[in-house]
Amino acid sequence: MPAEIIDGNRLAKSIRSETRRQVKKLKFTPGIAVVQVGDDPASTIYVDYKQKDCERVRFHSEVYRMSERATQDEVIDRIQTLNGRKEIHAILAQMPVPDQIDGQAVIDAIAPEKDTDGLGAANLGNLMINRECVLPCTPAGIVRLIESTGEEIEGKHAVCVGRSSLVGKPIGLILLNRNATVTYCHSRTRHLAEQTRSADILIVAAGKPEMIKADMVKAGAIVIDVGINRLEGRLVGDVHYESVKETAGYITPVPGGVGPMTRAILLENTLKLAISQCG
Ligand code: NDP
Repeated sequence: MPAEIIDGNRLAKSIRSETRRQVKKLKFTPGIAVVQVGDDPASTIYVDYKQKDCERVRFHSEVYRMSERATQDEVIDRIQTLNGRKEIHAILAQMPVPDQIDGQAVIDAIAPEKDTDGLGAANLGNLMINRECVLPCTPAGIVRLIESTGEEIEGKHAVCVGRSSLVGKPIGLILLNRNATVTYCHSRTRHLAEQTRSADILIVAAGKPEMIKADMVKAGAIVIDVGINRLEGRLVGDVHYESVKETAGYITPVPGGVGPMTRAILLENTLKLAISQCG
């Protein structure tokens, strides 16, 4: 039987509507600032999308576009100024940054209570010790997609292909904290197919177009495809969707799976931060 498609667009829409509903009830306006350094075209598009999303739910949003030649001190100064502003409840530093800047140092300069991407060392450390924290947007979105299947996480074998601090590592930790048994795979993993075939929940965030084929997936598995790649003019994931959807129990499409959820969770995180600072 073909897999059930997990519709990220639909779930993201319901998160946006709920956020908007909550904002209407507030006596203040949640504020978010986005800092982009340089003019990487993909980053500019992402920042524009994020700003539009914020406007749709009636957040106050500010975008700071800094020069490609900005120094680390200048960027951190900007973040610190934003940390000190009461009407800005959430700050996001758009990655990647130019080579002269240490991106993690910039993220770590964001006050943890305003770190809406949840990628600062303080938030990631809290995730590591299973303490309440801001969950990073993409991993938090992935968990919601898994939950939407109605399947239990506890006791399942989750395999994460990819171990970045942005996606792979945090999603593995979140699932471990939810009592899954977690395996991390990466570019040096031997016999990758053996690992992926043993997954009840398979999360693929490797950035390699269509690398996961049907014979690498257990029948009935939940398959979450995080990858976004251009292949011969098409947008494809890291999973060979057409074949894997015949084997998996549930699968996310690309586009329309994880991507819209990442954007929706940013709104939800920002609302939560604003309420915790003003509510
Ligand atoms: P990174 O490049 O930071 O990490 C890729 C990871 O995949 C690394 O851990 C790497 O291993 C591993 N890897 C690479 N090749 C293989 C392979 N052949 N076999 C097994 N593991 C491999 O990428 P990100 O985590 O930032 O992003 C991953 C993908 O997800 C990209 O396509 C990106 O565009 C997409 N993405 C999508 C988002 C969304 O909202 N939908 C959000 C964020 C990312 P090693 O550590 O050994 O190098």
